[in-house]
Amino acid sequence: MYILQKRIEEEGKVLNDDVLRVDMFINHQIDVALLNELGKEYKRRFEGYEITKILTIESSGIAIACITAQYFSVPVVFAKKHESRNMDSSVYQSEVYSFTKEKFYNIRVSKEFILPSDKILIIDDFLANGRAILGLMDIIEQAGASLTGVGVVIEKGFQDGGKKLREAGVKLESLAIIDSMENGNLKFR
Ligand code: 5GP
Repeated sequence: MYILQKRIEEEGKVLNDDVLRVDMFINHQIDVALLNELGKEYKRRFEGYEITKILTIESSGIAIACITAQYFSVPVVFAKKHESRNMDSSVYQSEVYSFTKEKFYNIRVSKEFILPSDKILIIDDFLANGRAILGLMDIIEQAGASLTGVGVVIEKGFQDGGKKLREAGVKLESLAIIDSMENGNLKFR
């Protein structure tokens, strides 16, 4: 996607050789017009696929998932990272290793929001080693629902998440794939 690649090239900041900051348009300040284009692109790439719900993970995935959901006319469910007293005790839970925080945490989704009949599209901002997406897939499996596909905005192709998912037969649609960020130079696939 040219407009996304251009924004990453112009405004993305490479923190070290493996972390990219896109706080100017996705992770802190949000460019809604750009997200609209991403939503349309997901709609195009998943045209004809059955999707009843979009599943994401708080917090950065929520905005992308909500804008995308408008093109599919389905609800968004987001996995929560923090325990909360107002959450039902009946939850699906999975352990995820955070790439950015370098620690394990649990993600939870209330059982009432994923049904065995659901056909789910997972949406997230980044794909690195695939831990977040695999945690969401684990929750879908626990619920007995089906995974239709995964849409990520930025896949870092030099980490192995994309390979793992494609080898597992997942329909993975990454809107931008970065193959290297060495010395701050972005190389797109
Ligand atoms: P994974 O679970 O695939 O290893 O990492 C994906 C998750 O970590 C995403 O949900 C995202 O929040 C975060 N993440 C991974 N790599 C990056 C990165 O380069 N930049 C930012 N901003 N977040 C990242």
